[in-house]
Amino acid sequence: MLSKKVADLINTQINKELYSAYLYYDFSLYYEEAGLSGFANWYDVQTKEEVDHAMMMVKYLQENGVRPVLEAIEKPDKTFTDHMEPLKAGLEHEIYVTSLIHNIYAAAQEEKDFRSMQFMDWFVKEQGEEENNADTLIKKMELFGGDAKALYMLDAELGARVYTPATQAE
Ligand code: MG
Repeated sequence: MLSKKVADLINTQINKELYSAYLYYDFSLYYEEAGLSGFANWYDVQTKEEVDHAMMMVKYLQENGVRPVLEAIEKPDKTFTDHMEPLKAGLEHEIYVTSLIHNIYAAAQEEKDFRSMQFMDWFVKEQGEEENNADTLIKKMELFGGDAKALYMLDAELGARVYTPATQAE
């Protein structure tokens, strides 16, 4: 049996992951309108990954006899005035998500819910990658964002990102 406390936290995290998807979809819409379709693609892929994260958690609860309960998803309400702002908001958001994931892990440890600790291991590692990706984007934008040709090439690079479904097996 899963700890009830941990199951509830994972259920809440399903909503947070879906909110992440919603937030990044909003970033994608911002960049599409700005003419940076590569950045838009990057965040489209990110959106799909966040939905995968939510679904991995749904499946985990289901496989452990817990019926996931879907809650209302918050509206992304940020407005952006330059191309750097979504990137910085993205890093800030991932740092926040890391704290949520760590809370779940800590609760599982406290409850001696070893199965959930193993399940959450993947997400702990994933958050390291998410923060690093977000930070790298900011650094590239700092270096190249001020030059039109360099920005064009950066947009092309981000346009090449391809979605591959996230799974626990990786
Ligand atoms: Mg996520």
